[in-house]
This record gives sequence, structure tokens and C-alpha cells, in this order.
Amino acid sequence: MKVQTSNLEGIGKIRYFTELVGDAPISVYVISGKDGDMLIDTGFSTTFKPLLKWIRENGFHITDIFLTHAHPDHDWNAAKFRKMFHARIWLGKEDVSLIRNFSSQPQHPTHKKFVFRVKWISFWTKTPFFKSKKYIPDVILDENANDTARKFGYDIEIIPLPGHTKGSYGILKDGVLYAGDAYAVINGTPMEPPHAFSIEELRESMKKISKIAPEYLACGHGVPFLFDEKYFSSEA
Ligand SMILES: [Zn+2]
Repeated sequence: MKVQTSNLEGIGKIRYFTELVGDAPISVYVISGKDGDMLIDTGFSTTFKPLLKWIRENGFHITDIFLTHAHPDHDWNAAKFRKMFHARIWLGKEDVSLIRNFSSQPQHPTHKKFVFRVKWISFWTKTPFFKSKKYIPDVILDENANDTARKFGYDIEIIPLPGHTKGSYGILKDGVLYAGDAYAVINGTPMEPPHAFSIEELRESMKKISKIAPEYLACGHGVPFLFDEKYFSSEA
């Protein structure tokens, strides 16, 4: 599997690891706090080995694992990494019941062209093959998430971005919005994510992102890109 990584260079000096798989490459990120480093998402089964290599090569000291939401292509390696690094897992409270239970928040295509994609994903996530290893989050994100982040030494703003899932959260740090699947890059094009639990809430969250107008958007799929208002116009 081909990977593309960047550490302190390239796009916005964002530390990202992108696994070039299919039309929606899987991206994870590392940000730093006072007492350690935070891994944002953990990728899927194929991500584990190359991601671990990247973490080791860069000497990241992972003390925290932030899950933007509890879909298997984001939380697949959370249990493994927690054990390996003795790290804390962070997850939005509304997504705790979504762990290993994809269909508890049924996904709806945001556009006609994604109907088959969503059917396919919904089928596979019902089988044992697409279930992440069990884990219980150590840090539950709720309305006090920012106090929690400060307590653990992170100068970040945690932003609720519901819609793709009920408990989707993003992180704003140094002008970069780590948005999870509240936005996406498919086939290299920034766009509305292909599916959501609530399309209405997803669009509200996109408006929120547009209002924040970060310098860069770092999504759960695709490489980070310069934010531009044009991606968030109503026809996007
Ligand atoms: Zn997702």
C-alpha cells in the first residue's frame, strides 16, 4: 500500500500520514501537547503497520488517541495503539454506542451518485469483517471537551461537527481544522462527504466550518488542503 506522509514540511506544516487506498485515501494526523503527542484517528486494518512505522520514524510520543468518530476506518487500531502506547482514547459521547455497531446510526447518501457506495458500506459493516477491536474510550467528549483538553496539556479547540455521525468532533489548532468526515476529499477533490447519519446536521456543521474559515482543512480522507469558501457554497 502506497503512503504519503509529511512532517513539519509541505502542506501547512501539518503532520499527516495518508494511505493511498481507493478514491478516498485514509488520513491520520499528529498534533503536540505539553506532555505528549495526540494521534488523530487510527485508520483501517491495512493502516496499522505503515502508520506505526511512521510514528516510530518520527519519534512521536503518543499519549492520546483522538477519534473524530467511531467508524471502522477511523477507530480500527484504537485498541491496539492504546495498549502499545498506554495512551488515552478520546471519543464523542454520542458515538460511544456506535463502536462496532455501524448500523446503529444508519448512513444516508448525500448525493444520488453515492447510493451504491452507501449500500455496499452498510452491507459490509454488518459482517464481522468490518468491526473494529473492542475499546472503551478513556475521555468522553461533551460540552466540557475544551476544559478536558487543557487539563491534558493541549492548546486546542474541540469543535462538535455532528451530521456524518451524531458524535463527530473536530480539532482546531494553529489555523488547521482537523475535521474528520465532516468534510472530505474524494479523488483529490474537496467535497461534501458521500454519506451522513443526518444530512441536515452535516450541512449545519459545514456551515460552521465555513464560518470558522480555517487556513487549512485536514479531513479524514484525502490530503490536507487550503480552505476556500467556494468549497462550501450551497451547490458544493
Ligand atoms: Zn466516517
